[in-house]
Amino acid sequence: MSAPVPVRSVVIVGGGTAGWMAATALSRLIRTGVSVTLVESDAIATVGVGEATIPPIRNFNGLLGIDENDFLAKTSGSIKLGIDFVDWTREGHRYTHPFGEFGFDIEGVKFHHFWRKLYTAGQASWIEDYNLCATAQKLGRFTLPVADPASVLSRLTYAYHFDASLYALYLRAYAEARGVVRIEGKVEDVMLRSIDGHVEAIRLEGDRRIEGELFVDCTGFRGLLIEGVLQTGFESWKQWLQCDRAVAVPSASPGRAITPFTQSTARRAGWQWRIPLQHRVGNGYVYCSTDISDDEAAAALLANLDGEPLRDPMLIRFEAGRRKLAWNRNVVALGLASGFVEPLESTSIHMIQTGVSKLMALFPDRGFSPVERDEYNRQTQVQMEQIRDFVILHYHANERTEGDLWRRVRDMAVPETLARKLDLFRNRGRFFRYDDELFADSSWIAVLLGQNVMPAGWDPLADAVAPALVRQRLDRIREVFRRAAEAMPRHEDWVARNCPALGIPVARRTA
Ligand SMILES: Cc1cc2nc3c(=O)[nH]c(=O)nc-3n(C[C@H](O)[C@H](O)[C@H](O)COP(=O)(O)OP(=O)(O)OC[C@H]3O[C@@H](n4cnc5c(N)ncnc54)[C@H](O)[C@@H]3O)c2cc1C
Repeated sequence: MSAPVPVRSVVIVGGGTAGWMAATALSRLIRTGVSVTLVESDAIATVGVGEATIPPIRNFNGLLGIDENDFLAKTSGSIKLGIDFVDWTREGHRYTHPFGEFGFDIEGVKFHHFWRKLYTAGQASWIEDYNLCATAQKLGRFTLPVADPASVLSRLTYAYHFDASLYALYLRAYAEARGVVRIEGKVEDVMLRSIDGHVEAIRLEGDRRIEGELFVDCTGFRGLLIEGVLQTGFESWKQWLQCDRAVAVPSASPGRAITPFTQSTARRAGWQWRIPLQHRVGNGYVYCSTDISDDEAAAALLANLDGEPLRDPMLIRFEAGRRKLAWNRNVVALGLASGFVEPLESTSIHMIQTGVSKLMALFPDRGFSPVERDEYNRQTQVQMEQIRDFVILHYHANERTEGDLWRRVRDMAVPETLARKLDLFRNRGRFFRYDDELFADSSWIAVLLGQNVMPAGWDPLADAVAPALVRQRLDRIREVFRRAAEAMPRHEDWVARNCPALGIPVARRTA
């Protein structure tokens, strides 16, 4: 058997969030003699939304040695402790999906079983009061967590909001400083090797030819290599995730506190996001084009801003689903080129991050063994389907009266994987996490309860602990979390002290 021949050249096509995240992570290979080249076209815009994230992004930045304050200052970032869902369950209702866990388990039994029992008896308040992130979020407070598990602050976990175009610039500086070569130019042609159909080279305008051994397709919804050339195929999830468009517009900061959470408000034909940054607010309306016209959606968005729009609304078309193979031959698709689930739970940037990590963990040699490729594809498919199910849950479990979309998604049959989770939870609040699932039990429980999926009962083992003791514990947890949150600085003060965006005054609380 001949020895494996290492890959010596990686070509990343596309310079949006996906391209630069890939370049940043893959720049580590340069020290081993691999060349990393990124090609992007200034004439083709990036999607450039992607402003809310989930906690694992801190691991990505941490692994790269990125200084958090420097990063937040240069991307005009703010802190995200969770998502505030307004009118999703029914009109006039509101709940939070906070990061971090609820309460503390007792004698190996999950906290929410005890909570369910006491809540039924009128002896506990809503479950969010037993989550430190939710408590801090409501008070608009933030401080950094501490590692010591004895401290209540170890229960705090957080992610970021940031300006996606500044993030790409930030990563570009990082990657170029470590030897990634950026080439500006539009890809006009892709050459395949006749022997095995692998991509051999791309041709840019002006007849420039760039050869590579491994290609990373980060060309956005186009999927220039993975679909345009390799015709990999796309599995649509439109029957469950019916929204297919978004209008997005930034607005001026309203001159009050920068809230440490993303807000998602259900609307007649979809939902509206609100993401507060230091210098502006990101807004968008994600909607189903059979229920509302683009003009109506743009008008509804503009009518529901809490500051002046800073430019005209931008229209984005998409379809929920996944590329049938995220890795096909010698092309690995990342970001929008690999598939898309709407940004309700801010998962796209995370999928780029896990895609790059998997690629590093399964980095091929020039033989491109199907073993590595198949494992990459299997893991990617499972992860995307799990995220898909979680997002479907938000739509399906609704009691809204306004809008045909909401009736359709309530009545639709959901994937079997989600139906099983719903049945188990409805019965006795049981929940199981499979295959290293991204969202932890606490996230599912937050959304299930938030959307009024109330378990009929609880784990019988919860009855083995003395009711008086349980009640005392719950009261204490709520009190300790409230006091800890009240002692934290206001979020905007924390930002102003630690990471003010360069040259941009931080919006201060006026009320
Ligand atoms: C409405 C909306 C809201 C979103 N909100 C969030 C969010 O809050 N959080 C989150 O995690 N994610 C979010 N996302 C997803 C997020 O925007 C993407 O994951 C992220 O922007 C990555 O995009 P990309 O790099 O894959 O593609 P793009 O940003 O589209 O970049 C494509 C790149 O390919 C280049 N290119 C294309 N064709 C060629 C060619 N022929 N030659 C050379 N270069 C080419 C372009 O120049 C560009 O550099 C959102 C997406 C949408 C649609």
